[in-house]
Amino acid sequence: MYKKYFAWSFDDGLEQDRKIVEILKEYGLGATFHLNSGMFGDKTYEGRIGNLGMIEKPADRFDPDGRHLLKYVPHFRLSQEEAVQLYDGFEIASHTMHHVNLARCSEEVKQREIREDVKNLSAVFQQEVTGFAYPYGIGAKNSKAALKAAGVTYARLAVSQKGFRFPKDPLAMPLSCWHISPHAFEKLDQFFKAEPERDDLFFLMFAHGYEFDFNTKDSNWDKFRRICETVASHEDVISCSIKDAMRMHQED
Ligand SMILES: [Zn+2]
Repeated sequence: MYKKYFAWSFDDGLEQDRKIVEILKEYGLGATFHLNSGMFGDKTYEGRIGNLGMIEKPADRFDPDGRHLLKYVPHFRLSQEEAVQLYDGFEIASHTMHHVNLARCSEEVKQREIREDVKNLSAVFQQEVTGFAYPYGIGAKNSKAALKAAGVTYARLAVSQKGFRFPKDPLAMPLSCWHISPHAFEKLDQFFKAEPERDDLFFLMFAHGYEFDFNTKDSNWDKFRRICETVASHEDVISCSIKDAMRMHQED
């Protein structure tokens, strides 16, 4: 019988992940955290603003009420020590050592950033790291050899696909939905109603912890909690890490 898998995917290892882990545990959900091993403890303020977290402009210029557009929020990273404790029981995956743009760096830097990150994270978190997420969602085209050489078996993009298929090419794994989408619940409903008749189904939901702090209509902690609640309430949906979903799907 075919199954339905749901995985959360979070990037960058941020302070907001403390609250994320608390809520995930409350609902018994699995997740994957994509970390940069060379940036633990980085407290560079990196606010983001814009409807999809892409445009960086002062909020008051666009939306004095702050209801729709996003405002600046801290993008502070956890220390390595805290990360080891916090993410215990969750999948850790690579996101390059220093969050590099893989489409722009040299081949040498690319290989090192991937290889060393996988090695560092595996050692620090005492688990075999085989997952990856492309920083800024780019670089898939010319990074597959470097990923394979580092032992990576899947790599997540930042674009969404229609439907709920497992990726044909695991090194170019699309999302099902970014939590920030105004259609997140519609898409989830489609997933809950879909019957896995011919193959397993997979829903991959993506977020950065800081986005929940935006506290806008489509990006807030209450929405995160409601997504977790509705996923947990569907007993036919298996919530786990990306790695476990891929493994169980391949074992079927
Ligand atoms: Zn990132």
